[in-house]
Amino acid sequence: RKNVLKKEFSRMNDRQQEAVFSVNGPLLILAGAGSGKTTVLVNRIANIIRYGNAYKSENISNDLSEEDLSAANRYLSAGEPLPFQVKCHFAAEPCRPWQILAITFTNKAAGELKNRLNSMLGEEGDDIWASTFHSTCARMLRRDGDKLGYSNHFTIYDTDDSRRMMKECQKSLGIDDKILSFKSILSAISRAKDSMIQPKEYLQQAGSDNRLGLIAQAYKLYQAKLKEADAMDFDDLICNTVCLLQQHPDVLEYYQNKFRYIMVDEYQDTNHAQYLLVKLLAQKSTNLCVVGDDDQSIYKFRGATIENILNFERTFPNAKVIRLEQNYRSTKNILNAANAVIENNTERKGKTLWTDNPAGEKIGVHTAFSEQDEADYIAKKILESVAVGRKFADHAILYRMNSQSNILEKIFIKSGIPYRIIGGLRFYERKEIRDMIAYLSVINNPNDEIRLRRIINQPKRSIGDKTIAQATEIAATLGESVFDIIKNADQYEPLKRTAPKLLQFAATMQELIDAANDENTSLNELYHLILDKTDYIGSLKASENDDAQDRIDNINELASNLIKYEEDNGEEASLSGFLEEVSLLTDIDNFDANSDSVVMMTIHSAKGLEFPVVFLPGFEDGIFPGIQAIYNPAEIEEERRLAYVAITRAKEELFIVNAESRMIFGSTSRNKPSRFIEEIPEELVARSRTREWKKPAPGMALPTSAFEARVVTTESARSFGPSNLIHSEPPKVQFQVGDGVMHKTFGTGLILSVSPMGNDTLLEIAFEKAGTKKLMANFARLQKI
Ligand code: ATP
Ligand code: MG
Repeated sequence: RKNVLKKEFSRMNDRQQEAVFSVNGPLLILAGAGSGKTTVLVNRIANIIRYGNAYKSENISNDLSEEDLSAANRYLSAGEPLPFQVKCHFAAEPCRPWQILAITFTNKAAGELKNRLNSMLGEEGDDIWASTFHSTCARMLRRDGDKLGYSNHFTIYDTDDSRRMMKECQKSLGIDDKILSFKSILSAISRAKDSMIQPKEYLQQAGSDNRLGLIAQAYKLYQAKLKEADAMDFDDLICNTVCLLQQHPDVLEYYQNKFRYIMVDEYQDTNHAQYLLVKLLAQKSTNLCVVGDDDQSIYKFRGATIENILNFERTFPNAKVIRLEQNYRSTKNILNAANAVIENNTERKGKTLWTDNPAGEKIGVHTAFSEQDEADYIAKKILESVAVGRKFADHAILYRMNSQSNILEKIFIKSGIPYRIIGGLRFYERKEIRDMIAYLSVINNPNDEIRLRRIINQPKRSIGDKTIAQATEIAATLGESVFDIIKNADQYEPLKRTAPKLLQFAATMQELIDAANDENTSLNELYHLILDKTDYIGSLKASENDDAQDRIDNINELASNLIKYEEDNGEEASLSGFLEEVSLLTDIDNFDANSDSVVMMTIHSAKGLEFPVVFLPGFEDGIFPGIQAIYNPAEIEEERRLAYVAITRAKEELFIVNAESRMIFGSTSRNKPSRFIEEIPEELVARSRTREWKKPAPGMALPTSAFEARVVTTESARSFGPSNLIHSEPPKVQFQVGDGVMHKTFGTGLILSVSPMGNDTLLEIAFEKAGTKKLMANFARLQKI
């Protein structure tokens, strides 16, 4: 393994090596996209664990220069004896993996960090605390949350739970959603938490401002309700951890001693609470290394403050700053385009990246005439690229808003392009999955009222909203939990009528709780017991909903998640552990790099990732930059940083697309090409456009390719544009069940079903290698065999 590391270190350039070997004291690595910041961070951890380090000993306080120290570390890292006498020595105890804390932003990034550490360090890598801010905090709170009055199996509320809770608060405070929406209250609370402002302080700051006063009340009630339910929302995880460390010196000391080295990736996106957390933890050792890029700060709307990076040297005196300027990710053309765009921002530290990589292809800038045409263009480019040997997974489509994926999906399905969406309706956001999670949560914590209410009549048990409201009211009056009231429903007059049903529900839940407490019941068994006792699947089947089968598949899929969780965690596996993992999952985790499909996600979620070919649709003023930013210079700069992040995800090829007319949110608009396109020097760009709208000359042959297959049919199309365009039909081949077919990508297969649909036919085909797929006959370009 030493050799592996040696090779890895020697691959790094001088500046990168300096960062890897500067292990003691505060260090800021400030560098542009693709310059190897994350790579350095990983190697630095490997170095610290494998080789210990040379550092200036306090006892021998000496004249050792930084260069000597660096040189000494290089020898140590190479496993070679020091050739010169230096007054330094190894750290007395070598650093153990669990003494290292590495924090990053997305679960995906944390997973990658772990993988890379694992491949460098073997099993030892597993013990490093490499995770997101949220999981790190959840872990600390599970240990010491009781000091703040939570149990150690507190529930983590996701966005949807928080919304329900806030709607209740609005109701009891008589706040009309039309006047002050739950969304705006929640986002105000979230900002407050980012800045560590408690409800009391919020009220003080509100002064005589009515709106802020109302928010303050809602904030106070919301926090009280959360506490009552033994629950925290996402922001609480960070805030409460900071409070814990501030208020309990023993806990602070424990973690300050535990973590000898702390590293934070994407530091430019930290907010004030996260800054405090890192500062507290690192105060004693001062061995804090943060890496970031001021040009990639894209979370101001979530309270991230670039000040954290700009003030690092002030917060941590004697901080060493290392800048990396060589980009290893992108071709010259892509990098120059990114540099040219970001240069237009005035508020930046300013740096120019260069690369040794080849110039590569020019950047494709394509003007389509509609959003549909834009999607067609992208599909065509992907199929061309796959035809010459790329994988689908080499292609990523990054957009400004989730809603842009819709039309792309449609076209991809028609063209038989496998894709995965990161974001949008995620697995854990589906109703049936939320129901199942709610069952598991209530079993884990019967005080979780929000979720109790979600499932009490799910499947239908004839327990109406009114009964639930009454039970809730009784619970509130008596200061007991709703579950306790339900358990004794027959003792309360208002509940008499529904008591048998309530008691039955309570008995079922109690049985499940008992099963969960039995060590011999595995999570998967518990899950099946829930399905059994509630007859959830039976009632789905009875509902005869069109999507019942899909839902059942999803429910079964959740079982595989439970099984996998138990396999991964062995003895440590627990119901609360699983629920925690689920609530911390963000969309990015559904991205499985192993399966060969095109990836689609927002630019925000693509932070830190890289792909050989990147498509950026919707580069139009009004879309990107968004309409809200156009008259606000500060927001334009934030949008431009986002464009910089988008462009720098590409390694080899980049395509930027704009549509002359776009149907979005139900109405059609005409937008100019994005100013960010105009900021790219013309010599880096190869422009193209979908051919002009023209009435076909009489007798003109119909095009045969699926992508050329558009003709304008009426005079009026010229003025009305895309809505009047229709697909002409390529020559039809008749398919029948049982026919053998050949598909360019999926190979050979057998037709299972044929369903006519409009002018086309939907085919269900069992491919030998690729499994069963549904394709549209006219688009799939199948050959009969
Ligand atoms: P971002 O700002 O997007 O997070 P980054 O600065 O973290 O980027 P990395 O993701 O670490 O950059 O590296 C970008 C690419 O360059 C990766 O593919 C990485 O393997 C490669 N790379 C980094 N350093 C070197 C090097 N010295 N030699 C060759 N390739 C390198
Ligand atoms: Mg990175």
